[in-house]
Amino acid sequence: MNDDARARTTVAQAWQAAVQRGLERIDAQALLAHVLDLPPGRARAWLLAHDTDPLPPAQLARYEALVQRRATGEPLAYLVGTREFYGLTLAVTPAVLVPRPDTETLVDWAVELLRPLPAPRVADLGTGSGAIALALKHSLPQAEVSAVDLSAEALAVARANGERLGLAVQWLHGSWLEPLAGRRLEMIVSNPPYIADGDPHLPALQHEPERALTSGPDGLDDLRRIVAAAPHHLLPGGWLLLEHGHDQAEAVQALLREAGFQRIQTRHDLGHRPRCTGGRWN
Ligand code: GLN
Repeated sequence: MNDDARARTTVAQAWQAAVQRGLERIDAQALLAHVLDLPPGRARAWLLAHDTDPLPPAQLARYEALVQRRATGEPLAYLVGTREFYGLTLAVTPAVLVPRPDTETLVDWAVELLRPLPAPRVADLGTGSGAIALALKHSLPQAEVSAVDLSAEALAVARANGERLGLAVQWLHGSWLEPLAGRRLEMIVSNPPYIADGDPHLPALQHEPERALTSGPDGLDDLRRIVAAAPHHLLPGGWLLLEHGHDQAEAVQALLREAGFQRIQTRHDLGHRPRCTGGRWN
């Protein structure tokens, strides 16, 4: 394209070009809204009303660069810097896993069990962006929520999310339950890494932190560690709720049973896959 033609590229043409590059329409639209700094929620209406407007060259160049990155598989959330989770807008960077809708199943279950309690204590292990911890604190203001991550970089993203959203969570740096030494809680929740080393899906997830995704030859190493340590940190009647791979429910149920948990149950995600398993400590 020569300079004249570039200067006349319209909003609609830029969007269309991105779709031709293989982008989903909704992603192409989200990237346009991002470079044009449109208020979330009004982007679609604005883009339709302004589709014959020329796109200023600086924004067109930024848009094309983002389209190129999206076309090679970078998650949309990293490109625009945010992702919605449980009704909250969270900042995300490549230091954290992009929050998935599947994980809302875990939050729903935790909220259901904790809602009747006056001041429950709950910890989210491997919090990443803070998604689960912040969703819990937002849904249950009476809860005392702690969140742990081994990555200081991830914890900084989570802490900043908490500050921006005005949600008070205690952010703890360390491995799984170690920072909770000496404490007992009503609930422990976690979406740990659970993909097997060498899994064929990993190339599609190459932009996300590997430490947040893989966990040994069967993907269960971290789930085993958490199940083994949790009984030392749960009050009688406390619950451990875990997210896992779609084919790991039986294995996680067995781990919980062997550790002495009761009332073991599995819940399904929005795609009807078994996604979360939990049990009650005595
Ligand atoms: N649900 C993610 C995926 O399969 C994995 C997240 C995880 O390992 N906790 O894309």
